[in-house]
Amino acid sequence: MVSGKRLREGGDSSMQQAEMTSWEGGILQVSVPMDPPLRQVNSYILTGPDGRITVVDPGPHKPEAELAWQAVLAELDLTWDKVREIVVTHHHPDHYGLAGWMQAASGGRVWMTERAHAEARMSWGTGASLNETLPQLFLRHGMPEETVQGVREHLESFLIQVTPQPEVSYIDTAAPFVLGGRAWRPLTTGGHAPGHVSLYEAASGLILCGDAVLPQISPNVGLQPGSDPQPLRTFMEGLRELRSLGVTRAFPGHRVPFTGFAERADSLLRHHEERLDTVSRLLEGGPLSGFAVCQALFRSRVSSAHQMRFAMSETLAHLTELVRRERAAEVEPAGDGIILYAALN
Ligand SMILES: [Zn+2]
Ligand SMILES: [Zn+2]
Repeated sequence: MVSGKRLREGGDSSMQQAEMTSWEGGILQVSVPMDPPLRQVNSYILTGPDGRITVVDPGPHKPEAELAWQAVLAELDLTWDKVREIVVTHHHPDHYGLAGWMQAASGGRVWMTERAHAEARMSWGTGASLNETLPQLFLRHGMPEETVQGVREHLESFLIQVTPQPEVSYIDTAAPFVLGGRAWRPLTTGGHAPGHVSLYEAASGLILCGDAVLPQISPNVGLQPGSDPQPLRTFMEGLRELRSLGVTRAFPGHRVPFTGFAERADSLLRHHEERLDTVSRLLEGGPLSGFAVCQALFRSRVSSAHQMRFAMSETLAHLTELVRRERAAEVEPAGDGIILYAALN
């Protein structure tokens, strides 16, 4: 860390702050406020030789995030026309949501992968059906209707955080991507979000890794209808690819930039193997629905529709991987139509 400074906005108890920290490689970290449980998402600013900037992952579209960005620009003595480009690592609202607003303010170009943009359209575009198809999936896997209703309302609450949506240019993932006047290698990995792109600068070993690898937090890996049918396998393949790079410092989407990137990727791989073993042992007691497994794994830690949605999707991702590895099988639905999983020996 080179220097840190804290900006404050507003004067009441809902005071918002945008903390900025300068790191090596000319990377400026901006901590943008977001909803609990994460509370903050990292945006990064890189400055080009002409003084114009690229913003990586602007944050969710919330009033407090708008205020934070206005304060950041004032503090840096920049006007909106200095924002040349906005890069979005993946389509989740906490990273992508503010891109359209920032594009409207700056006229900057918004970059993401074509696959990530397809996910954004499927999740939030006109005719998006995730708020129907995900609840239907959860019902088939045994989640009670009243819990599903909470998830449905939660999904609908995201729309405002991703509106307006940006005009998007697609990152050519086969070519170096110029960021802050330097060439970075785009690396696409899935599992957390299809089309998720990390940017790696081989000369310095720095990587902007979004939510592909996070310190302290295990990135959510969830099964979602119409998306990747094998998200855990994809996620683990991505971790193996990323861990083999010579990363000296990683700049993640949440928490603090960190070293020990390969070790962190290894620990996430171990976590998922252990979780697969835990789920496998649960099934040895007899066939269970996805929701029953989710309750056994997460019951004490799930206190909101938000957490329930991610816990259930993650449980289904693990069950899907156990089926792929032939350690479990889906049992034909009984009269109630609920899918059960049974251990295979
Ligand atoms: Zn994410
Ligand atoms: Zn995130």
